[in-house]
Amino acid sequence: MEKTDCIFCKIIKGEIPSHKLYEDEFFIAVLDLNPAAYGHTLIISKSHHENLLDLGDTAGANFIKAAQMVARAVIAATEAESFNLIQNNGNFAGQTVFHFHAHIVPRKQIDGLNFSWIAKSAPKGFMLEMTEKITRELNP
Ligand code: 5GP
Ligand code: ZN
Repeated sequence: MEKTDCIFCKIIKGEIPSHKLYEDEFFIAVLDLNPAAYGHTLIISKSHHENLLDLGDTAGANFIKAAQMVARAVIAATEAESFNLIQNNGNFAGQTVFHFHAHIVPRKQIDGLNFSWIAKSAPKGFMLEMTEKITRELNP
């Protein structure tokens, strides 16, 4: 299951060079070409799936195992105190490569990175409305 014009499929097939760190049945991990921090790593599904919703149950269930292993190694190697696990789905969420992947970004106390947002206040009415709408989707 590959897509011919997909850059990550080409990495999986070895048609584009990468710095490969890890491989299991479902995922590989490579260094990000344009890292937010040194050690910024991508965990990429071996099969072409556009995003998390497309990943499927088996690879999905195995993702956490790969993420934990890779994150532990990245933290140890970079002597980071923390890390972000970032996984973008869709244009408006910042996804630029439409083949499932997650970012492990090692973090230190003063690293100049900022992935924060301005929190909105959430009036009770909106909380109730959202709870009702989302639980209805979960329990059709
Ligand atoms: P997204 O914004 O889709 O979540 O992240 C895509 C990531 O892929 C970016 O961080 C970008 O630097 C990385 N990237 C794009 N092309 C390549 C490539 O050819 N090789 C590697 N290793 N990373 C890439
Ligand atoms: Zn692909």
